[in-house]
Amino acid sequence: MPTIMTHAVVPLAFAAAAGRGTISPKLAAAGAVLAMLPDADVIGFRLGIDYADTWGHRGATHALAFSLLVAGVIAAIWREARSIGAYAFLAVAMASHGLLDALTNGGLGPALFWPFSDARVFAPVTPIRVSPIGAGFFSARGAATMASEAVLVWLPCFALAVAGWLIRNRSRSALIG
Ligand SMILES: [Zn+2]
Repeated sequence: MPTIMTHAVVPLAFAAAAGRGTISPKLAAAGAVLAMLPDADVIGFRLGIDYADTWGHRGATHALAFSLLVAGVIAAIWREARSIGAYAFLAVAMASHGLLDALTNGGLGPALFWPFSDARVFAPVTPIRVSPIGAGFFSARGAATMASEAVLVWLPCFALAVAGWLIRNRSRSALIG
């Protein structure tokens, strides 16, 4: 995985770009949680589930279909998520996790196409350094991981948020002017 905070940055940047009128702060926060949620599967390591198993790390919880399902469950129980836009935001927020993982250069790839295929897949290019699992996080390797994520994820996300803000403010001033 990229580090867990980096997963949360993606939906937050989308929300910031779209503006709070489009994606409410509550919905944005839910998206951030969903973007981090798939890595709860690391608990499988403790439960004796193999990394390569369907429910192992980067398995079914990282699948695109799983994010559609979870967003659907949330829309069913939470009024705020009960619009096509809100549902799509939550589903994409969670799906972004597996997609980012597919861009990392180590471990097994995410099972993006579960339940149709258990294959662990990577993107054709894997520029993001994989984050060490557990204590290795606070090591030189952890620092190098953060640096690669800063350049490849945080920077584009920040640019997206700023671009969205600029576009919204331009159209607003055009309305006033
Ligand atoms: Zn992951």
